[in-house]
Amino acid sequence: MMVFNIVEIFQSLQGEGANTGMPAIFIRFAGCNLTCRWCDTDFNHYHKMTFAELLTEVSRYEARNIIITGGEPTLQRKLPALLTELKQRGYFIAIETNGLRPVDTQIDYIAVSPKFAFQPRYQDFCIPAADEMRIVVEDHPAFELFCLEMEQKITAKHYFLSPCEENGQFNVLHTITLLGKLNQRPNKPKWLLSLQTHKLAHIE
Ligand code: SF4
Repeated sequence: MMVFNIVEIFQSLQGEGANTGMPAIFIRFAGCNLTCRWCDTDFNHYHKMTFAELLTEVSRYEARNIIITGGEPTLQRKLPALLTELKQRGYFIAIETNGLRPVDTQIDYIAVSPKFAFQPRYQDFCIPAADEMRIVVEDHPAFELFCLEMEQKITAKHYFLSPCEENGQFNVLHTITLLGKLNQRPNKPKWLLSLQTHKLAHIE
């Protein structure tokens, strides 16, 4: 029997990046291959759902967009079968990934979020392209270089910096200072600000 480790399934609005405001059903899978210091997702508390239970739960919601997230959702070995079924049901499917594992070709929209603290891992492998890149800003002298490296490694339609939240504080000044530096370069991709607007709007 096909079983998935699910943290939660809910409908909300996408709070970040180029699709901000898009109504979507979020499927949050358990487990991650990284351990970010500031991670705000409890991806180790989950329950098991069968394929049929998961589809029944998804069909309760009205949205026609699905955001596959985690944790790191590409760790789910049975994900391709689920994607095939969801595509047959006509859903637009986006994924949020840290970019360290291949992404199934059935996915319609890839949002990749490379993690500075695990920079060496991106030298070994990372996905070559995404629809948007969204990097959470860390206060480190080498962070700008990391952005430039990721811009080279992963071709994206949109590039975003997102302030990091630690202890209720966002490093906004550091983030916009860095945006200014990145955007001073002529004929290079434009980096934009992405805020976690779902937190500001007090939605999931
Ligand atoms: S990659 Fe994402 S889910 Fe995994 S630890 Fe980092 S912030 Fe958390």
